[in-house]
Amino acid sequence: MTRRPLIVANWKMHHTRTAAEDWCSKWHELREDEPWPERIEIGVAPAFTALKTLRARGRSLTLALVGQNCHQEPFGPFTGEVSAGMLEDAGCAMVIVGHIERRQHYGETDRLIAQKVKAVREAGMVPIVCVGESENQRESGRTEPIIESQLRHALSLVSLARGAEIVVAYEPVWAIGTGRVAQPEQAEAAQAFLRGILASITNRDVAGDARILYGGSVNPDNASVLAEQPHVDGFLVGGASLDAGTFHRIVKAFAPLVGD
Ligand code: PEP
Repeated sequence: MTRRPLIVANWKMHHTRTAAEDWCSKWHELREDEPWPERIEIGVAPAFTALKTLRARGRSLTLALVGQNCHQEPFGPFTGEVSAGMLEDAGCAMVIVGHIERRQHYGETDRLIAQKVKAVREAGMVPIVCVGESENQRESGRTEPIIESQLRHALSLVSLARGAEIVVAYEPVWAIGTGRVAQPEQAEAAQAFLRGILASITNRDVAGDARILYGGSVNPDNASVLAEQPHVDGFLVGGASLDAGTFHRIVKAFAPLVGD
């Protein structure tokens, strides 16, 4: 495959610093036993409290640090919030923006998501922009207009010169945390469509280089067939990333596709 695969563990509100340490120790052992090609990029999005732990351990393990969320402003009286600049300062290279759990539980709108994408870019990091349709929207044939609208809004305040400046995650709402993974052809169709939209927002080179991840109930049993889809450049993994061994088996799905 031409694009470098990216697999991101989204720990959500799980794992204390001790659990993060344990995860890293297990990860180290697994990688020693069974290394995989350097071309596969791995990111971990821990809780804010475990960022420092991951930063300390992640360098030697070549794990990229990912923020789960940020505020749209650079600083100010926003109790309980963390800015994009603070995440960059903590060592993050990427930040997840527009996750369905933020949209659903915290009322994040397309407008706010666009502001967060801009904040992440201005802080010198790469946003992982999540888009996805609900079950109703899919059943009523509205998947494409919904994910197109989400992507266009999310990118409306930034201008992208290179594919490396953005990651898109296609995460059908009905597949997240449900055990109902998208069929490989459903993921492929949606992701090929998103690449076309990205090309119309930017250009063909940017869209051709940008990574588009699939997220939603990925596990070691379904990872290989999804990874084989030409427009699936990696995964955003929730539940199955909490155990280092399970996550390791998911990552390995990309090994035969990239060569040494
Ligand atoms: C997610 O929350 O981004 C996700 C993909 O979760 P899960 O893998 O648990 O479906």
